This record gives sequence, structure tokens and C-alpha cells, in this order.
Amino acid sequence: MMVKDKISWTSIVVAYSKSGDMGSAEEVFVQCPVKDMVAWTAMVTGYAQNAMPVKALEVFEQMAAAGMAIDEVLLTGAISACAQLGAVRRAAWVQEIAEQNGFGRNVVVGSGLVDMYAKCGLIDEACRVFEGMKEKNVYTYSSMIVGLASHGRANDAIALFNDMVSRADVKPNHVTFIGVLAACSHAGMVREGRFYFAQMKDRYGILPSADHYACMVDLLGRAGLVIEALDLVKSMTVEPHGAVWGALLGACRIHGNTEVAKVAAEHLFKLEPEGIGNYVLLSNTLASAGEWDEVSKVRKLMRNRRLKKDPAVSCFEGQDGLVHQFFAGDNTHPRTSEIKKALLELVAKLKLAGYVPHLSSIVYDVSEQEKERLLMGHSEKLALSFGLLTLAGSTIRIVKNLRICEDCHLFMRFVSKVEPINIIVRDNMRFHHFKDGECSCGGFW
Ligand SMILES: [Zn+2]
Ligand SMILES: [Zn+2]
Repeated sequence: MMVKDKISWTSIVVAYSKSGDMGSAEEVFVQCPVKDMVAWTAMVTGYAQNAMPVKALEVFEQMAAAGMAIDEVLLTGAISACAQLGAVRRAAWVQEIAEQNGFGRNVVVGSGLVDMYAKCGLIDEACRVFEGMKEKNVYTYSSMIVGLASHGRANDAIALFNDMVSRADVKPNHVTFIGVLAACSHAGMVREGRFYFAQMKDRYGILPSADHYACMVDLLGRAGLVIEALDLVKSMTVEPHGAVWGALLGACRIHGNTEVAKVAAEHLFKLEPEGIGNYVLLSNTLASAGEWDEVSKVRKLMRNRRLKKDPAVSCFEGQDGLVHQFFAGDNTHPRTSEIKKALLELVAKLKLAGYVPHLSSIVYDVSEQEKERLLMGHSEKLALSFGLLTLAGSTIRIVKNLRICEDCHLFMRFVSKVEPINIIVRDNMRFHHFKDGECSCGGFW
């Protein structure tokens, strides 16, 4: 009877976790008279898959502390949580546990570790894990190729792809091509990008998904082929999603195409009604072209839709492995006054070095002074200020959930120039490595 009970408790936890209802899963889990391995694992993977990485690691930590058995599925959940958080110390700790439990040579765990380190900004560490793996499959290669591409190491990514399909004779999958196309896009390799996009379908029989189209639109758009990019979107065999139109809008901002920008923005406003960044991008594109009437229309639209809340959040992992979260205009961190004071001093220093805040990153109709105040409340600046206050090494890593704005990008470049530090910011699209006043993205993001 007892055994049967245990199984039914567990199956309820698993069912809730699989359906993404982590609140109910947690409720049942807490009440479980006897928690078995399956229930624990369901909690860790459930949290990880539902974008609750902090919770996933909490549960994993409890299991590790209790000396419970660790398996491949569980490790994969914990690894994915670290990747989402971009937390370097936690990542190293999870790798240690994997090795202690005999998963050091496991191909699934190893592939996860490659992906995790790349997403934590430690691309060299990802390469080391990759090189050390005896067995490599399509997931291992794909993780490495995507990782290299997101860090702007386009040539390495393409070289690895060629090695994978020729020497290693591993058949690529759709994720592999995301990495290859992103690499081509980053390096401005239009001809190669077109070649691989065609090869994907013709040689490997992989039909392009909306994500692949987003890469191609990004590739063409960055290279200034905005009209061709729009034509590609129109010819799509699958429904374009936000990333496709977002890539097009981003290209319009860089190349000043207001007509196509309006088309892309119209779709984005429908697909992502809360996405304040899209309004900012459109408004900036219009402002650069001097279309002020259109700019005020966008502002009016934002007012009517009551888009006020900025859902941006930036994370910074402290020396103790604790992950600190900062929201835009956030006053909730226990060291807020210290952080703000240090930030003001830093801004003064940057201004002496030539930094002029990019006020048009704020689209609200407010005074210039207010614009600057809002800009200085951006989450990545707060995270950076806290990072400088508590830093022991020479690299600050910040993970942001949304695209980094023009002003924060400029700000980070100046900080990397006047302070003896490197800054690595992961935004929702790619990595920015700031060093000596320059960024690895070359100003295209
Ligand atoms: Zn910003
Ligand atoms: Zn950058």
C-alpha cells in the first residue's frame, strides 16, 4: 500500500511539472510523505524548463547536500539552470558534482556543459570541455558551434562545422545550422550564409524553421540588404515570429530604412504587445531620419497602450556564488544607496573621458534631465555598479533578459576604457565582450 502511495504522489508531481504548473507541483511535492528520486528530479527539471533556474538549483543543492544519487537527467536540469543564469561559480560546482558522480565522460552531460559554459560567457572553458570529450555527437558539436557563434568567433564556428561534417562524419541537425547561420551573420559573410542556408535543405533535408529565417534576415539586414530581407520574410513557408521581424527592425535601425521599419514594427506590436524595446527601436529609427511627426505618433501609441513598465532584469553573480538581480529603476537591493552613489561617481568620470548619454534611448516625452535619470536606472548599469563595488578579479559578467540599449552599450564601452576591467554582457541575442573601449559585436546588435 505504502509503495503504491509513493508512486501516485510522485506521478502527480511529475504530471504537474510536465504541464509547467510548478506552483501545484511544489505544493504536492512538499506534502509527499516519502520523496523518491523521480519526484526530486521532476522538480529540478520542471523548474529548469519553466525558466525558474534559481529554484531548480536550490532543489538540486538540497539533493546534493543530502548525498542523494545523481543521474544524467538530473544533471541536465541543473546544467540548464546554470546556463540560464549565466552563473559561473555555480556552473563550476555543477561540473564538479558531475565528475564526482562519474559523468565526466558522459556525452549528454558533456554536451550540456559545453552549452552551459558558452552561455556563462566562458567560451574558452567550453572549448576545453569540448576538446576533452572522447565521444562527441551532433548535440556536442551543435552546442560548440552555437557557442562560438554567439561569442562572435565566426571563423572558428564555420571551421568546426566543416570538421564535423567531413572528418568526424556527424550529420548536422537544425540547431547546428542556427549556429552556422548566426556565425555567417556576425561576420558579414553573406555569400557563405546563402550557401549554407541552401545546403541545409538541399543536402541535409532540413526544412528551415522561423529561427533559421530570423538568422538569414539578420544576415541580409546587417549587410544592408534590407529589401531582400523583407522579400525573404514574405516568401517564408512558416509563419514569421517575433525574432524574424525583430531582426528586420534591427537592420532598419542600422541602415535607416523607415518604410520597412514601420512594416516590421506593425507586426511586432501585434506579436509582442508588451515589448517596449520594439517601440524604442522604431522611434530611434524615425528620429534618426528626422521624421518627428512619426516619432510622436509612436509615443502616443505607447501612452494609449499604457506601456510604462520596463520588464528588464540584469543578473550578476557575487563572489559567494549568490545571484543578484537588478530591475530597471530598482531600489530594492540592500546596498542600493551605495550602488547609486558609486554609479554617479562613475558617470562623472566617464563624462570627463567623453561619454555623452544617448538620450534618444528613452522614447518618453520627458525632460532631458529626466531622460538621463531614467537611463542611469537601467538594470545593467546597476548590476555593473554593484559588480565594481564587490569585484575581486578583472572581469564583470552580466546577464540581461532583453536587448542592451544604445546608451548602456556606449556606457559599457567607456567603462572598459577608463577602468582596468573587461565586461561581458549577455543580452537576449548575443554576447558583448567590452575591452579597452570596444565591443566584440562591432556595434551591430
Ligand atoms: Zn540601457
Ligand atoms: Zn556589443
